[in-house]
Amino acid sequence: MRIRFSEISPNGNRYEFNELGGIRDQEILSLGHNSKAEVVLVKKSDTQVELSGTIKAVPEIICDRCLEPFGYVLETSFHLLFEVSGKNKWRMREVECASEELDTIELDEPSIDLIEIIRQQILLSLPVKKICSTECKGICSYCGVNLNTESCRCSQQANNSPFAILAEYKKKQK
Ligand SMILES: [Zn+2]
Ligand SMILES: [Zn+2]
Repeated sequence: MRIRFSEISPNGNRYEFNELGGIRDQEILSLGHNSKAEVVLVKKSDTQVELSGTIKAVPEIICDRCLEPFGYVLETSFHLLFEVSGKNKWRMREVECASEELDTIELDEPSIDLIEIIRQQILLSLPVKKICSTECKGICSYCGVNLNTESCRCSQQANNSPFAILAEYKKKQK
């Protein structure tokens, strides 16, 4: 959904998204039906638009430990400044804007792809370590069983595994 600067009023345009199902990424399997975003665009000048937005979503992502998908509850708000560069390279930066320390995004043309901005903000809000639950037991490194749903006997046999034998051997070397 592309919004041209010419469509944006100085008083602000509000956009609501009640379905973000179209947003996918390598890291995001799907976005829950309850996902919502709200974006307000305010035209500051012909070359500057300020954006403030909030996202509430439950992206389905893969747990780093057990490799199963889970819904991550995400809530974020953001504030960005869009500035057309390109032909207007001569322009002077307004001091007011610089002091506000908004993240500034340079554009080649005076239009903003709102869905793309929302997608990026969701990705930025994902945790570095994606864990389905603090109690997640992960998968067995020997047989690959998901230890949250099944148990295996590897830990009992661990002493006979090639790795354990190797570890034992290394200990003896010291
Ligand atoms: Zn997990
Ligand atoms: Zn196992």
